This record gives sequence, structure tokens and C-alpha cells, in this order.
Amino acid sequence: MAYSIKFHVLTLFPEIPRAFFTSSIMAKAVQKEIIAYDLVNIRDFALDAHKTCDDSPYGGGAGQLLLAEPIEKALYSLKLRKKRVIYMTPSGKPFTQNYAKELSKEKNLVILCGRYEGIDQRIIDSYVDDEISIGDYVLSSGEVAANVLIDAVYRLVDGVIRQESLEEESYTNNLLEYPQYTRPEVFNDMRVPEVLLSGHHKNIAQWRQKMRLIKTLKNRPDLIAKARSEGCLSKEDEKMIEQIYIGEQDGPNKNN
Ligand code: SAM
Repeated sequence: MAYSIKFHVLTLFPEIPRAFFTSSIMAKAVQKEIIAYDLVNIRDFALDAHKTCDDSPYGGGAGQLLLAEPIEKALYSLKLRKKRVIYMTPSGKPFTQNYAKELSKEKNLVILCGRYEGIDQRIIDSYVDDEISIGDYVLSSGEVAANVLIDAVYRLVDGVIRQESLEEESYTNNLLEYPQYTRPEVFNDMRVPEVLLSGHHKNIAQWRQKMRLIKTLKNRPDLIAKARSEGCLSKEDEKMIEQIYIGEQDGPNKNN
């Protein structure tokens, strides 16, 4: 039990999360025994010889629902006393970076993937701790949503990614990340901003903070309001925001 977190994925299509657990940085984290995973095929717990896992909903309506009994048996097969059970669903609470941080502290995360029209409500009522949505749209499967959740969570677990890489990412202090550049210095007549070549750390940090504010104001003004209400903006940030607004009134590209 050396791992920091174990993902138990209950699914009808284990090949979808398996591809994720066996690739790239995740595969390395598994190899280093920081992350563990367990793919449980709900179909193995079907009650009949045809391995039926779905049926039509009471009350009528389109589509099929996943049956309660195979899911319950699959959950019992985990033999876990302490666990957090998540059901991926478009009608769940919105998934955010803070939610990912919270989940990254768990030891055993059980992730239930729906299909068709979803699952029998009695499973949710009896066993599910969190109903989570990855966005305001409807996917055809919970496996894709589970992969998104697992990806956002595992990279926050100690030892998976260098801490510095996580510190200035988007959503830190409710702001988005600043623009980044690598070689060459000139690409299609576009130069890397001079300040980044200056080696002047304070100026670079100031420029990055300003760019963070500009990007957030442009793409996610709702986050600026959140940053303000949560006390994430300093007096200097507020001054920069004022300057950004004034710059906009003066004409385009005043902030570069
Ligand atoms: N009938 C459901 C509804 O209207 O809320 C939609 C079911 S959807 C077609 C099938 C499965 O995909 C769901 O059970 C869920 O596991 C998954 N899913 C779809 N969209 C999702 C989202 N935005 N977030 C998380 N899971 C989602």
C-alpha cells in the first residue's frame, strides 16, 4: 500500500481508462507506485447468463439505464471500508481545480462511469458521495469524463509533477496563466517580448502578472470578480487592472 492515491474505475469499457493509465506521465507515476489503479468491469457482475447490465426506465422514455445490482456488486467487490465514491454525470456539481485539489488528498477514489441514459437513482442515493460534471454539455460516456477527472487529480499528487510547474498554472489565485514562448526568438515576424530576454527577474515577474490579468479579463472576467471577493488581488494588481482599462481606451496593443 505504498501508493498515495488509488483510482478504482467502475466501467463497462475498461479499455478507455486503461489507455490513459498506461501512457505517458501517468504510466511513470504508476511505475513509481505513487498512483495505483483498478479497472472493474461492471459486466463481470451481471446477474444473468447474457451479462445484461441495462434495462429501460420505469415511466417510459428513450434509452436504457444501467442496472443497480451489477453496480452494487462491483462496489462490494472493492472490499474498501474508507473510500470516496464519485459518479460522473452532467447533472453533477461543476468540476474545478479546487475540487481536483480536494480529491487529490483522498487515498481511494472510486469513479463510477455511466452510459446510455445514466444509472438507477438508488445507486446514487445509497453509495455516491459526489456527483460530478466536467462541463455543461452531455457526453455519451462517463469514461471520457472519468479520464478528465483522473488527469486533473493525479498530477496534483506529491511526486508526480515538480511543484514549481504547478505553482503558476491557470486557476492559481483565480487567474489564468500568462503567455509563454520558446525558441526561436522570431517566428513568422513575431518577436518574443523583449522583457523575457532581459534576464531581469523582477520585470519578468511584473510583466507576467500583468499578462495574467489581461488574459483573465479577456477570457474569464468572472474569475477577476472571484479573485477580488476571495482577496487574491493585491493593490498592485488593482493598479495594473486600472492601467489595462486605460490602455484599452487609448487604443489597441497598448499593453504589450
Ligand atoms: N441522461 C443523462 C442526463 O441528461 O443527465 C445523460 C446521460 S449521458 C448520455 C451518459 C453518461 O455519460 C452519464 O451517465 C455520465 O456518466 C456521462 N456524462 C455525460 N456528460 C457528462 C458530463 N458533462 N460530466 C460527467 N459525466 C458525463
